[in-house]
Amino acid sequence: MSVARLSDRVRRELTYLSYPAREWTIPRHRDGARVLDVLIVGGGQGGLATAFGLKLERVVNIRIVDRNRRGLEGPWRRFARMKALRTQKEVTGLDLGIPSLTPRAWYEARFGRRAWERIQKLSPREWREYLDWYRDVLELPVENNIEVTLIEPAGDLLLAHLRRRGRTERVHARKIVLATGFDGSGRWRAPPTLVTELPAKRYAHSTEDIDFARLKGKRVGVLGVGASALDNAASALEAGAAKVDLCFRRAEFPRVNPLTWTHFAGMLGHFGELTDLERWRFMRRILDEFPQPPPQDSYWRCRKFENFVWHADCAWRSIRDEGGVATVETKAGTFRFDFIIFATGAQWDLASRCELAPIAHHIALWRDQFTPPPGEESDVLANYPYLGPAFEFTERKPGIAPFLGRLHNFTYGATASFGLTGAAITGLRYGVRRLVNGLVRDLFREDAAAYYRDLLAYAEPELETLDSAIAWLEKLGADSLTWSPTDLDHAILAEDSQAARY
Ligand SMILES: Cc1cc2nc3c(=O)[nH]c(=O)nc-3n(C[C@H](O)[C@H](O)[C@H](O)COP(=O)(O)OP(=O)(O)OC[C@H]3O[C@@H](n4cnc5c(N)ncnc54)[C@H](O)[C@@H]3O)c2cc1C
Repeated sequence: MSVARLSDRVRRELTYLSYPAREWTIPRHRDGARVLDVLIVGGGQGGLATAFGLKLERVVNIRIVDRNRRGLEGPWRRFARMKALRTQKEVTGLDLGIPSLTPRAWYEARFGRRAWERIQKLSPREWREYLDWYRDVLELPVENNIEVTLIEPAGDLLLAHLRRRGRTERVHARKIVLATGFDGSGRWRAPPTLVTELPAKRYAHSTEDIDFARLKGKRVGVLGVGASALDNAASALEAGAAKVDLCFRRAEFPRVNPLTWTHFAGMLGHFGELTDLERWRFMRRILDEFPQPPPQDSYWRCRKFENFVWHADCAWRSIRDEGGVATVETKAGTFRFDFIIFATGAQWDLASRCELAPIAHHIALWRDQFTPPPGEESDVLANYPYLGPAFEFTERKPGIAPFLGRLHNFTYGATASFGLTGAAITGLRYGVRRLVNGLVRDLFREDAAAYYRDLLAYAEPELETLDSAIAWLEKLGADSLTWSPTDLDHAILAEDSQAARY
């Protein structure tokens, strides 16, 4: 089957799921414009799946914006430098249960069934191509090159500032979903104490654009031990770097991946229902004590180069730039590099996000809501936002910032509260369901009084009685017709028995 035929099938299947078809949210207006029901910030996989989920629930008064160009949403065509995803190829989630929308259906249509059997995993580029197709076939209206620069309360709504080509549009929304990615609750960060004296040309964070060709013949230092550390080291080696030293603090390579353990329905779907103490204990083990190891492929990719050396127990203490070379003092001695790549991940800091900066101080973090038992503290976990049941932010001080209930955090920052969800391919299946259910529930409940008024005013007759039929005929001026009541009875009974078949 070709991709075009698969697309037809998706469209056809969606018609089978068209019940209930009614678009039901009640229009609101502010400053002469229609208020959005939902504004989705981020057109990566999380934003796309949320938009599709809302569409299935007939919430269509939405916008999805992304600051990147079309096709460059998320890391996949930019800094995901691995050959293959870590995720197993059978993963589902974005499809929301529709088989023809799964990665497998797309891959088989695009490359053939044999190809599917041959591959172990999808490459990042294939994953992005799948997302491009998903966006197109579902006609999800992503608007690219728009950045949300600020979100603020506006009475009983939220007001978002959308910047495009230097111009700012102000948009009111009842709900805003932040599907802003792995770093959406903070920022990618090289350790500030190490880079203060380094000129910008001497280093990059692993998520930046790096011209690897320029590293040919150079000595490259990589700090970190996760997937990105190994994939960036491999990219430098493949580009002809003279030597790559990979340094990390831990005594050895992490080898066990606790996130893989979480891949079962109970955990993925219902972790959020556990008590705070239970959630803390699970997540402390997963997010703090046991870092994710690099994938096997990434390890072998580096290991085959003789000029690749890794150094465990090698915390970096300081760096100075001397004569065009970075001299790094570490626990394991002194290193000299022409270029450094910091694969040091992201730091959770809501205030560092421009869109959240003015309201970040109102947002509750785990450290505000939960005190761990002695000996079970975790600075890492304490900095994660403490979210409500549908990913909404919660208030640090009750009653001070109720608008936070309209702002939903579907980023990796949600992991402490709900486990893997939006910003992980493996978490989408349950995460999107939880988020969309919560959004739809809130939109409906907020307008319960208006729906009740609508019910009271509802006067669409579904049943025709003899009296109403006569009245109807009279209205048509058909009183000259020679219908007897018995004729009408028969006509109505015939209608009824027809209807009963359905
Ligand atoms: C290098 C890398 C490899 C990964 N590999 C895997 C893997 O193999 N398996 C797995 O399960 N997970 C993986 N992940 C985790 C996760 O799947 C990805 O981070 C994924 O991209 C998350 O999807 P998302 O939609 O949440 O965010 P993204 O795909 O990052 O999309 C977020 C979008 O939000 C936009 N945005 C951000 N801020 C704004 C703003 N203020 N205004 C407008 N737009 C904004 C960005 O431009 C971006 O396009 C990986 C992550 C990284 C970084």
